[in-house]
Amino acid sequence: MDESTDNTTFADLALRPELVEALSSLGYEEPTPIQRESIPPLIAGQDLLGQAATGTGKTAAFALPMLEHLDADNRSKNPTGLILVPTRELAMQVSEAVHKYGRGLGARVLPIYGGQPIGRQLQALSRGVDVVVATPGRAVDHIKRGTIPLKNIAMVVLDEADEMLDMGFAEDLDAILGALPTERQTVLFSATMPKRIESLARRHLSNPTTIRIEAPVVAKGDAPKVRQLAFMVPRSHKPAALGRILDVESPAAAIVFCRTRLEVDQLTETLNGRGYRAEALHGGMNQEGRDRVMARVRSGNADLLIATDVAARGLDIDLLTHVVNYDVPSAPESYVHRIGRVGRAGREGVAITLAEPREHRLLENIQRVTGDKIAIEKVPTISDLRNRRMELTLGTLRETLLDDDLDRYRTIVESLTDEFDLFDVALAAVKLTHEATTGAEDEVEIPEVEVRRSKDRKNDRGDRGDRGDRGERGDRDKKGKKGKDRSIGVDSTRLYFPIGRSAQVRPGDLVGAITGETGLAGKQIGSIEIADKFSLVEVPEKSADDIIRAMKKTTIKGRKVVPRRERFQRFER
Ligand code: AMP
Repeated sequence: MDESTDNTTFADLALRPELVEALSSLGYEEPTPIQRESIPPLIAGQDLLGQAATGTGKTAAFALPMLEHLDADNRSKNPTGLILVPTRELAMQVSEAVHKYGRGLGARVLPIYGGQPIGRQLQALSRGVDVVVATPGRAVDHIKRGTIPLKNIAMVVLDEADEMLDMGFAEDLDAILGALPTERQTVLFSATMPKRIESLARRHLSNPTTIRIEAPVVAKGDAPKVRQLAFMVPRSHKPAALGRILDVESPAAAIVFCRTRLEVDQLTETLNGRGYRAEALHGGMNQEGRDRVMARVRSGNADLLIATDVAARGLDIDLLTHVVNYDVPSAPESYVHRIGRVGRAGREGVAITLAEPREHRLLENIQRVTGDKIAIEKVPTISDLRNRRMELTLGTLRETLLDDDLDRYRTIVESLTDEFDLFDVALAAVKLTHEATTGAEDEVEIPEVEVRRSKDRKNDRGDRGDRGDRGERGDRDKKGKKGKDRSIGVDSTRLYFPIGRSAQVRPGDLVGAITGETGLAGKQIGSIEIADKFSLVEVPEKSADDIIRAMKKTTIKGRKVVPRRERFQRFER
């Protein structure tokens, strides 16, 4: 997905057709650097020690070889793959990813984490599972009860091993690895490689291939002049946030990089819906289509090009002023390549990166490797945007007053001033200009995200208790903002409730009102984000209309609060 000098494709990795098919339907165009380097040795059966953070594509790097080894014709009830992860959020996320990649193979994947009723996990295990994704604490519980058959485990993955050690799972990991068959493949991924990880690897890995994505070398004088900014935005707010940032930055010509074809298509549609002239460019298009797009961009008939790295390779657009990373690129070298497209020939360029809170480490890594500072800025608020729009209107009117021959409108003004005050006539004309030039106004405030630096993460253990996977509801009830942590999946939608922190609303009030009026169970309600003036609640798509109707009959905190569907589409991959 990212640009680099190596052009290995998924086909070169010789994956089974069902997997290639899954990747293509997800819109992945090429392997990420970590995938390119990990997949061949893992398919060949070697152990692997990899340094990679979230966002690099590491899940597919270990999941694809695990699925490649799955014996589709001769499947037993016992799992052959075990993936250990630090938190239940990651367990759900990795399990969803393995399920997506293994759909064509009918892979049976089970996430196992603390807080979830053990009965459900036992039932699924007795029906038969191919891949178990578990937090260490819960895995140990199952091993002690003898409820997780380990004898067929052929590959075990320790994902985010440094986090697992930081959270106090060292003993649990030793116990789990000690209970697995000795004839097995062991994979360890970690964002950092402190001594404790090296020692864990020495104890449990045998002759591993080591992988670390090397930093690009950029000669000092060659570094482009680029203003580098990043915005921390929850995924569901990305399209709205990008719209606002573009409104404030007003790029002459910009390229927006997305990870997948699907994302390119969806974002292009959303941005066109918001009044931009955006064009999509990805590897699924034929040459003729691409030429047409590039002609429109070069002639100034489009102001935004939305592209994957593969499609943008080799493109040279003269007047590019802004590069936008819709996600943090998976490797620093991709970041450097991408932003090298602006700031050429002494002109100033701007590089904007939208990062999800969990991708913060990746951003830190890019700064460490490039030695450049990326300033983390706040997404423009509704009032910033209004001010900016007022400025635009002012500028447009000033230009018109200076340049245009306005005499032919004199009769209109004269006839109106017979009836109205001249100042009011001017106000009405300004209003029309403003509405015509600046488009519809946003009304949803984008929640501010707290940035956690890596060094703050050491304190996590205290926050979460000594077992990170205990307690199902804790996060949501403590902090309404941790929306993504409790997603209820792809068939969900979000409802906008016009009541928030300023009315002292808490997640329990929203859950209580919804379950009380609709008969929906609390667990069917997903993430809840509470901002100052509004809240967003994730609910099953099929129940959304019933909830909206039911809320008309009740009150929250003594107020009538009728929700509506969130205005901006969410992007799921
Ligand atoms: P991970 O580091 O595994 O959490 O992956 C980060 C994101 O990149 C996920 O949303 C994946 O769906 C996406 N991704 C992984 N591999 C690729 C690829 N080869 N091309 C495009 N997107 C990818």
